[in-house]
Amino acid sequence: MIVMKFGGTSVESEEAVARVTSIVKTQVHRRPIVIVSAMGKTTNKLLAAAHEAAAGRRDQALAIVDELRAHHLLHGLALAGPAAAELDRYIRTHFDWLDELVKGLSVVGELSPRSMDAIASVGERLSSLVVSFAFRAAGLDATHVDARRVILTDDRFTQAQPLFEQTYALLKERVRPIAETSVVVMGGFIGATEDGHTTTLGRGGSDFSAAIAAAGVDAEEIQIWTDVDGMLTADPRIMPGGRRVKSISFAEASEMAYFGAKVLHPATILPAFEKNIPVLILNSRRPDVEGTRITALAMPCKNPVKSISCKRQITILNIRSTRMLMAHGFMRRIFEVFDRFETSVDMVSTSEVSVSLTLDNAENLDRIHDDLRQFSEVTLEENQAIVCLVGENIRHTPGIAGRAFQVLSNKNIRMISQGASLLNLGFVIADKDLPDAVSALHKEFFSEVDPAVFA
Ligand code: ASP
Ligand code: MG
Repeated sequence: MIVMKFGGTSVESEEAVARVTSIVKTQVHRRPIVIVSAMGKTTNKLLAAAHEAAAGRRDQALAIVDELRAHHLLHGLALAGPAAAELDRYIRTHFDWLDELVKGLSVVGELSPRSMDAIASVGERLSSLVVSFAFRAAGLDATHVDARRVILTDDRFTQAQPLFEQTYALLKERVRPIAETSVVVMGGFIGATEDGHTTTLGRGGSDFSAAIAAAGVDAEEIQIWTDVDGMLTADPRIMPGGRRVKSISFAEASEMAYFGAKVLHPATILPAFEKNIPVLILNSRRPDVEGTRITALAMPCKNPVKSISCKRQITILNIRSTRMLMAHGFMRRIFEVFDRFETSVDMVSTSEVSVSLTLDNAENLDRIHDDLRQFSEVTLEENQAIVCLVGENIRHTPGIAGRAFQVLSNKNIRMISQGASLLNLGFVIADKDLPDAVSALHKEFFSEVDPAVFA
């Protein structure tokens, strides 16, 4: 049994779903459970409709719902073959309900996390129906399972955590037996509380759903189908022409995901990792490319560095104690501020009297700045970038830092960090220097590559 997950762009249109159908057909003998995201940008639009409604802009909200209805009818019904009338009824029922909900919200003028999840879930509820109809019309034996019947979560709406024990038991009891004989199709991202309220696992949560499903049914493999060939040695938006990494470890993949590689949600890793299930990243537009295989243990690799990850346009905060001596409690006070604004810190370096750090998101930067100024001097440096060399062999190979610094010797390096995991080496440099720096580092570390690991 395998789990195949298709992201939003892989199911955005009639043509995309047709591609998914032919990919799944080639894997039927492996008894797939198919997890799908909402079609295209549906989740963003649903949330936009919810916000418009809550702000009292009823007509704008209803217009977004109309646009989504038209898209689902246009692309969905074309795929459903003789069952089009039945799918038409399902789609219309969901959108009628959405119309009512949006009207209600615009009267009440408020949006609870619970209503947000009720609305956001519609994308995956519908895409999974559309895909199951498309599969049947193409001659596959397919069964739609409402993910909310099997993925049980706590009630932290919009960020719900699965109740793993119950969820795994339900997946074994309700999904496994169906998947023995029929292709199961479920929506990703969504779940429900024990008393039946719809929840979501957080944005991008379909990968997480796929990992949970795979862990629950003891799948032999997870395939994450996206629109890229897999993980690359360098971010293609910064340096085209990087090599595809054929094989990496879970630890390396999470490090890469954290620092910028948009391919995979880091939380995906956990349930799969715990059960030792390999994860494959594949391209639904180029299904013959073998992609990237992520496994618990890295395959031996002659190159010390597997990939160069980056994160652009970040801000450095330099925080200096206003007292002469570093009083104890200074660090605690700093981190209390970040905790208050629920902002996580990416990189930290400290000296006797000052701390420099970079923020994961700058949404509350002004207020963070104000609070820190109560007990310290703060300066900001904007337009910076993090570059990270990732690879398990970095810890066993002397001289990596030396080589990297040599390559960057004409650049101003603002911060340096080597995490406790020892599988990454990160620097902060000016964002404008990033493309050059990445190309130079790539040349240094990837002009010769181990053919077993890199394509
Ligand atoms: N549709 C959800 C989102 O856009 C979940 C996902 O695509 O993974 O966040
Ligand atoms: Mg996604």
